[in-house]
Amino acid sequence: MQIAIDGPAGAGKSTIAKKLASEYGYIYVDTGAMYRAMALYLIRCGISADDKEAIEKACEYADISIRFIDGDQKVILNGEDVNGLIRTQEVSNMASASSVNGKVREKLVALQQKLAKDSDVVMDGRDIGTKVLPDAEVKIFLTASTKVRAKRRYEELKEKGEDCDLAAIEREIKERDHRDMTRTLSPLKQADDAILLDTSDMDIEQAVKEAGRIIGEKRNECHSC
Ligand code: C5P
Repeated sequence: MQIAIDGPAGAGKSTIAKKLASEYGYIYVDTGAMYRAMALYLIRCGISADDKEAIEKACEYADISIRFIDGDQKVILNGEDVNGLIRTQEVSNMASASSVNGKVREKLVALQQKLAKDSDVVMDGRDIGTKVLPDAEVKIFLTASTKVRAKRRYEELKEKGEDCDLAAIEREIKERDHRDMTRTLSPLKQADDAILLDTSDMDIEQAVKEAGRIIGEKRNECHSC
């Protein structure tokens, strides 16, 4: 069983995907974390986001894998668990900039497809329904207004005690969305057979419930055909 959840930053993909995966006993694959690990590697190498050649060369040396510990995905970069290091604004921006690179995408898509071949998955990202798992039984395109998404990120960071500015977060989300939606390779877009779920007016419990309802219907259709 493959459940693909795509959508822009801050739409609630990971929270919803994680809850559903644990409910169904599937593995949860956060593909954004893989692009983030690659970005961390590039930052550590001192490579600039627009140096295509250097990114392509460096990406060969970044060994990225994932492990599951108590149902939680850990991203391993060259043997190091980097989970705690990939959620900074610098990494977000580098991930968005370097994910336009074909070599980076090729490498990570192969890893994602292998994971989905070996287990039942709930996988979230930007191109899961369109490119990584085009035959997924369930595809959901999860979104929310930019304002709502920025507010959610702001509250998340505040809760962690981080100093942040709502207007700056909104600006960065818009930039990232624009780059993700307009890149040539696997741009962020709703797959033709994906179901749109707008969570702007929902809290997380309602969004999980609604996503669960969509998946339940699709699974019934799959079982009866
Ligand atoms: O989902 P998250 O915000 O962690 O993703 C970080 C960045 O990685 C995104 O802005 C996007 O540019 C890139 N990404 C991607 N394809 C995916 C997942 C993430 O291009 N499947």
